[in-house]
Amino acid sequence: KLKRARNFNAGPAALPLEVLQRAQNEWLNIEDSGMSVMELSHRSAEFEKIHNRAIQSLKELMDIPENYEVLLLQGGASLQFSMIPMNLLPEGKRADYVLTGSWSEKALKEAKKVGETAVVASSKADKYTFIPKVEDIELNEDSAYLHITSNNTIYGTQWKEFPETGNVPLVADMSSDILSKKIDVSKFGLIYAGAQKNLGPSGITLVIIRKDLIKDMDSIPSMLNYSIHAKNNSLYNTPPTLAIYLLSLVLDWAKEQGGVEKIAENNEAKAKVIYDAIDGSDGFYKGHAKPDSRSFMNITFTLPSEEAEAQFLKELKLAGFVGLNGHRSIGGCRASIYNAVPLSHCQELAAFMKKFQQAHH
Ligand code: PMP
Repeated sequence: KLKRARNFNAGPAALPLEVLQRAQNEWLNIEDSGMSVMELSHRSAEFEKIHNRAIQSLKELMDIPENYEVLLLQGGASLQFSMIPMNLLPEGKRADYVLTGSWSEKALKEAKKVGETAVVASSKADKYTFIPKVEDIELNEDSAYLHITSNNTIYGTQWKEFPETGNVPLVADMSSDILSKKIDVSKFGLIYAGAQKNLGPSGITLVIIRKDLIKDMDSIPSMLNYSIHAKNNSLYNTPPTLAIYLLSLVLDWAKEQGGVEKIAENNEAKAKVIYDAIDGSDGFYKGHAKPDSRSFMNITFTLPSEEAEAQFLKELKLAGFVGLNGHRSIGGCRASIYNAVPLSHCQELAAFMKKFQQAHH
C-alpha cells in the first residue's frame, strides 16, 4: 500500500494524489512528444498548449472577466510586494495597507522603498487575532490602491467580506486562500498568489490584473514590468515549465471536484471538524483567531503549556501527521488544510486531538 503522510504543511503543501499519479503516468512522454515536460522547449506547440490550458482553466474556475489579464510569473508572492508598488504607485500618490499579519507587514515594507504609503487599519496591537471590520478602514479616495492579505497564513485569520473601495483598486495577496472559495474578481484591481498552497508546486506566482492598470513603464526593469509579461503571454523569458504543467493538472483536478463552489463546501466542512475539536475541548485547545475571523485554510491553536505542546507535536509525528508546528515566529500549532487535504485527514486529526486531551488533561 502506498504510504502517504497526513500532510498539514503550510506551503509547499499537500498536492492531490490524482495529480501526482497523472504526472507519473505522463512523466516520460508528454503530449506524445517522446519527451518529459521538462525537456520541451517553452516555445514548442506542446508546451504552449499546456501553458494556455492552465491560464484558461484559471479563467474558468475563478470566473475571471474579460478585462483582466492572467499572468504566471516567478519570484514568489514576495516579489509582488515590490512589483505592485513599482507598477501601480506613481510619484505623488500614496498606497494604503491594511496590516493583518507578518505578510502584510512585509508587503508594506517593500512598498515603502518605492513610494509613499499609509497604514489604514491594523490588528497588530491585538496580536493579529482578527481582521479589522471593513467600516473601520480609513478609505482614501486618492489612494493608488488599497492592499490587503486575504488569508493570514501565520496567524490563521481570513477576510470574510471585502471592502468596497470605489475607484481605488483593491489589491489582495491571496497566496493562502486562492481557489479555496468563490470570489468576485471584478471587485479587485489585482490579485496575486504564490502557487505552493492551493495551486501546485512552488515556482509560479499567479497575478490577475485589471487590464487598465497595466501601464507601459520604461523606467522599471523588464522582468518587473506587468506590461512586458502581459504582451508576451507570460512567456517573455523561460518559465518554470514543470511547475506550470503541474499547475495545469491541479486545475484539471479542481474542475473534476466540481469547481470552486464544491471545493469551498469541502473546505468549510474540513475546518469545522477541527474548530469543533478546539471549541469542544473545555479550553484545553485555544484558537488564536477570534471566531469571526477564523481561517478555513490555516487553523492556529495552543495547548495549556509549552511542554504539552511539545508532547502533542511529538506524538502527532509518531502517528504520521506532518507539518503541525506553528510558524517559527509565533509558535503553537497550526493545521494547514488547503484544497488537497482530504476531509478524512482532518477527521483523523480531530480524533487525535480528542484522544490526546483525554490522556493529558
Ligand atoms: N503571502 C502570504 C499570505 C504567504 O503565506 C506567503 C508564504 N507563506 C507569502 C506571501 C510569501 O510567498 P513566497 O514565499 O511565494 O514569496
